[in-house]
Amino acid sequence: GQRVVLITGCSSGIGLAIAVMLARDERKRYYVLATMRDLKRKDKLVEAAGDAYGKTLSLLTLDVCSDESVKQCVNSIKDRHIDILINNAGVGLVGPVEAISLDNMKQVFETNFFGVVRMIKEVMPDMKRRRSGHIMVISSVLGLHGETLTHTHTHTHTHTSGNTTQIRLMLLFTGVAFNDVYSASKFATEGLCEALAIQLLQFNVKVSMIEPGPVNTEFELKLMTEVSKKEFAGADPETLHHFRTCYLPTQVNLFKGLGQTPEDIAKVTKKVIESPRPPFRNLTNPLYTPIVALKYADETRSLSVHTFYHMLYNLGGVMHVSVRIMKFLSFGWLRRRAISPT
Ligand code: NAD
Repeated sequence: GQRVVLITGCSSGIGLAIAVMLARDERKRYYVLATMRDLKRKDKLVEAAGDAYGKTLSLLTLDVCSDESVKQCVNSIKDRHIDILINNAGVGLVGPVEAISLDNMKQVFETNFFGVVRMIKEVMPDMKRRRSGHIMVISSVLGLHGETLTHTHTHTHTHTSGNTTQIRLMLLFTGVAFNDVYSASKFATEGLCEALAIQLLQFNVKVSMIEPGPVNTEFELKLMTEVSKKEFAGADPETLHHFRTCYLPTQVNLFKGLGQTPEDIAKVTKKVIESPRPPFRNLTNPLYTPIVALKYADETRSLSVHTFYHMLYNLGGVMHVSVRIMKFLSFGWLRRRAISPT
């Protein structure tokens, strides 16, 4: 029969793309419950779903920040039966930590972490009882621990010349700075899921994280609009200078240069769903494997902390050395450890 898939945050971006791709599966293997906070924002999804809408895709209201909304939504589903839960809803936050209010940080955790907890609490007990199910989270490369390298069966083909590789690697590092709280919210989620994954094996329930790098969605635009309105009072001028004149412009280039499409992420997600033994961690962008490799190469994390630092602030000669290390680490088998969307 058809597998029931519930996805959160489907009015735009990655959630929308996953909903459409699964609902339009040639063999009609999925029945998609595409959820969003506000059904008034359904038009883009409905249009993209085409004739799948009403057949293999239906809409439900769900706000991951509300206990009541989550409960109501799941109770409205036939037998509360969900085979695959895709936690996609999420918000970003950038800026120097000292200039961000705790309330603002808590909002991010409320969506990115507690939103996932809320969904899992509501759906997991039924999955355990049925001894089947798959819980997925659209995490981020910024939520990577890196202890466990992803294990995938697909091969990627990335051909980059020396220079572009250097520029690309440099760009990767800038993405890590000033996303501290967002990164922490994804780390928290990865920690939760890694612990759950172990217990859930006993119940035949699978857990997988999808870890995209930059993806061209409204996400980045929302962040940039927010940033342009904020003053970031509380940060010293030197930090603000790094943030505004180094980080922000590079971030724009990062998305332009390395950004994947929401469809790329949807393809990887579908591959993981359809894999007989879905890996726990799944990078979507092979260019990020060096970051994972760096963490893997030195469990004290000093190597990655110092390399990131030099890449960000001290590019000179150090860059060459770091890039060499990175190239060495990312060579061959490590490179192949991201799932290619193609
Ligand atoms: P997006 O802003 O287009 O999508 C996020 C969706 O979540 C939106 O539709 C938004 O309305 C919804 N949402 C926010 N709060 C919600 C709530 N309380 N309840 C229900 N829905 C809520 O951005 P996106 O890039 O598609 O982001 C999807 C996921 O991918 C997020 O978890 C994000 O952290 C992750 N991600 C994005 C990128 C990127 O570069 N865009 C990279 C890595 C990971």
